[in-house]
Amino acid sequence: MIKKIVIVGGGTAGWLAANHLGKRFLGSETVVKLIESANIPTIGVGEGTVPMMRQTLEYFGIDEGEFVKECNVAFKQGISFENWMAPQAGKTHRYYHPFDFFSSELGLVTAWLNDNSGIHFADFVGFQSTLCDHNLAPKLITQPQFDGAASYAYHLDAGAFSELLKNNAINNLGVIHHYNELSEVALDNDGAISHLVTDAGVETADLYIDCTGFRSLLLGTAMKTPFVAKGDVLFADKALAVQIPYADNEQIPSYTRSTAQTAGWIWDIGLYSRKGIGHVYSSNHTSETQAYAELENYLGTNLDSLNVRSIDMKVGYRSKAWSKNCVALGLSQGFVEPLEATGLLVFDVTAKMLADTLPTSTMAFDTVAKHFNNTVTNMWNKVIDFIKLHYCISDRCDSQFWLDNRSPESIPDSLQEKLELWKYKVPTNYDFGGKFDVFDIDNYLYVLYGMSYPTSVDSNLISPAELKRMSDIIGTIKYQQKQARELAIDNKSLLEKIHQFG
Ligand code: FAD
Repeated sequence: MIKKIVIVGGGTAGWLAANHLGKRFLGSETVVKLIESANIPTIGVGEGTVPMMRQTLEYFGIDEGEFVKECNVAFKQGISFENWMAPQAGKTHRYYHPFDFFSSELGLVTAWLNDNSGIHFADFVGFQSTLCDHNLAPKLITQPQFDGAASYAYHLDAGAFSELLKNNAINNLGVIHHYNELSEVALDNDGAISHLVTDAGVETADLYIDCTGFRSLLLGTAMKTPFVAKGDVLFADKALAVQIPYADNEQIPSYTRSTAQTAGWIWDIGLYSRKGIGHVYSSNHTSETQAYAELENYLGTNLDSLNVRSIDMKVGYRSKAWSKNCVALGLSQGFVEPLEATGLLVFDVTAKMLADTLPTSTMAFDTVAKHFNNTVTNMWNKVIDFIKLHYCISDRCDSQFWLDNRSPESIPDSLQEKLELWKYKVPTNYDFGGKFDVFDIDNYLYVLYGMSYPTSVDSNLISPAELKRMSDIIGTIKYQQKQARELAIDNKSLLEKIHQFG
């Protein structure tokens, strides 16, 4: 029977895992313990999230108001992609990937393809882009926790978020915590972990969770589980990250801004009291000096007086996230560039899946692990396809980076097949696998048509009856856009109210 689980690492992944496992075993005899080094810092980035975070916080029993105040939170309603296509007539190309879903009305896509007015796809199918355009919040102060007029996620301070998760796990979910530094991972004859050695002595468990970040000290370094590198598909392998204050009277956007560069892109994430900005780039296509210069150019300021961190990124995933008596969660399991805030999403989903499906007996580990690993590998490949989509349908030709991103050998077959199909028909739910596709039809539609993917209009003609029905729906959307502008308050004012009144 599983009597004790030890999590090594106290970054966001470690504490997400501690909350999920703590919740599963609360009140039982199974002990969940987290050890972390007091000297090795967490990665300290990871400030953009997706809407699933709302469910997670509610599930953990965390109060949204406290979370907003403690983690320097601002509301996020999607991503604005800028310069991901070549400029047209000298104008910056821009499109939104908002969070609101509309897939129940797929006829809208066909109607948009048949429309010649030049309206942006996101503006055609919903009202959330209107909220984003005017820095408006997704909810009113009177709306219940975790609920809004539009779907939303958060921008948050990574360090403060770990701290909040830690307090919840220890105080409310019975997780034991110690600052211990791991020095050795001992294996038995079968290759499973027999015990850990830390500065406090020997530590044993029935299940070990590796949350040691890119180091992957348990599953990777000790157990030598192979790493499946994906740098040939997603080229970005370095990041420069900096925190900067808002200018006086600057608004807080309710979206992440992602601006494409010569060999990567810049994230711009507005928290409540500061911004987190970073340049993700491919070191095979540009130098750190050039990347630094592009970041300065974006910010319009010299960065020498600021603390600009240079971060190496290991793109890919372990061939098995669960091997014998060890499961890796977090950067130790895998990572792809943070273009769609996939890090916390995948780690949260996999930590919950582990907690939900963990058998009570260690005898069943191998069988359950096989299924777990298939699901996690599938999830990573789906995430990689979706991130690659943003690059490979771009028409930018201004650098080798953009040209290389369109080379067929860099595009996974699974994505190439879909792109070929979508030249002739709009994507439908039949093209997606189901529950564990963390990015689904709506996500694809926003990106494909935000980037003017050329689905043949001839093959997607719309019947007069459907056209009439769609025109009624479009009328409703226009009304919602007007209402949104009139009724919503701006993101900054809402956050100020929450800080003031709770
Ligand atoms: P870490 O934060 O690195 O934590 C590792 C832990 O292991 C630490 O507590 C450390 O003390 C401990 N440890 C290490 N060695 C030892 C030892 N010997 N003994 C004991 N303890 C040890 N995700 C998103 O969802 N959204 C984003 O916008 C986003 N942006 C990102 C930008 C960049 C540039 C990068 C690199 C990542 C980004 N991510 C993002 C991913 C996000 O940062 C991670 O998902 C998240 O922080 C989880 O990290 P972690 O807990 O796995 O590792």
